[in-house]
Amino acid sequence: MDTMSGGTWRPAERVRGMGTSIFTEMTELARETGAVNLGQGVPELASPPQLLRDVADAVLGGHNQYPPAIGLPALREAVAAHQLRRYGLGLDPACEVLVTTGATEALAACVLALCDPGDEIIAFDPCYDAYAADARLAGARLVGVPLAADGDGFALDAGALRAAVTPRTRVLILNTPHNPTGKVFTPAELEAVAAVCREHDLTAVTDEVYEHLVYGDVPHRPIAALPGMRERTLSVSSAGKTFNTTGWKVGWVTGPAPLVAAVNAAKQFLTYASGTPYQGALARALDSVEEWAAGLRSQLRGHRDLLTTGLEAAGLRPFRSDAGYFVQADVRPAGYEDGVAFCRDLPGRVGVVAIPTSAFQVAEGPRWLVRFSFCKREATLDEAVTRLKRLAA
Ligand code: PMP
Ligand code: GLN
Repeated sequence: MDTMSGGTWRPAERVRGMGTSIFTEMTELARETGAVNLGQGVPELASPPQLLRDVADAVLGGHNQYPPAIGLPALREAVAAHQLRRYGLGLDPACEVLVTTGATEALAACVLALCDPGDEIIAFDPCYDAYAADARLAGARLVGVPLAADGDGFALDAGALRAAVTPRTRVLILNTPHNPTGKVFTPAELEAVAAVCREHDLTAVTDEVYEHLVYGDVPHRPIAALPGMRERTLSVSSAGKTFNTTGWKVGWVTGPAPLVAAVNAAKQFLTYASGTPYQGALARALDSVEEWAAGLRSQLRGHRDLLTTGLEAAGLRPFRSDAGYFVQADVRPAGYEDGVAFCRDLPGRVGVVAIPTSAFQVAEGPRWLVRFSFCKREATLDEAVTRLKRLAA
């Protein structure tokens, strides 16, 4: 009970204990201590100049009122064209594409649309922190299936996945390319996940926000493109990571019309609609995303290598990261069994902020993993790497 804020109240059960997200907490810690922030995945990188100009023109040109609730037609058409061009997925932009306020709203609306209280959702552990929160808002339960350590990377444990399915399982959330590990699910792994969805009649909700940021040999493939999956998959993506515009919060959901309609039923009462000037500009940018993304990938690949080498030089054991913004490191060589203790000490010891991977774990998992972000300017990474070397001194 809180009687300090004028009246007696208590937070509803669904938000009790949620507190502040790990990203907010760590970014605040970096600000307070002046440490280099390799915690939150906020890019310091440039956006396409034409995209920025188009947004400015749209604002000044008066495109500032509500767009249609399902999104501007131009963006829905651009998303449909993108899915067809890249993945061979044909979509009707009138009813199979829904624009959202970032992937965050898309994921919440999918879970609210698909799950009743008591239902279970499977996700691969560690996983993005919003999934557990979304499950909780819906009264559902997130069940984490640990990714298995695989040499220098992470792999699907198909046996553990099968064992996690119960009669209450309704949804499987598949995040590939994966945050926080940088894993890209292989074709064989995608097929194994799809087989479980088909056998147990699960709806797949995907999180593909890093779809354009793959640095290794395994290309990104949406699970919706696998046999028997299109009709049971809601695919989620967002413009934030692709164009370094995370503050704009424009995302989208694609899938079969009845599923998309159910998601929109929830979404229209979360935000109704948002971001008119961004939506129009992003439609144009998405039409030529391949050229832009090739340059961004080569930049980020270099940054990943810089950070990975720096973590090794600091005496930590980095894992392979094939995609996205993050590298995982085993901090035991620095004398820590617990990533939380390591991250608490790091700003004071060397002036760097990182995030303990345990913040992304639903089930019990290794305590000694820490996530470092490389979506920063080269100068930021150089400074971080120089500071981290003091760990080895
Ligand atoms: N999913 C994953 C895996 C992410 O890393 C992020 C990054 N913030 C999001 C979803 C949220 O995307 P958005 O900013 O478009 O809401
Ligand atoms: N996706 C980003 C990360 O994983 C940040 C998301 C957020 O701050 N909510 O770091």
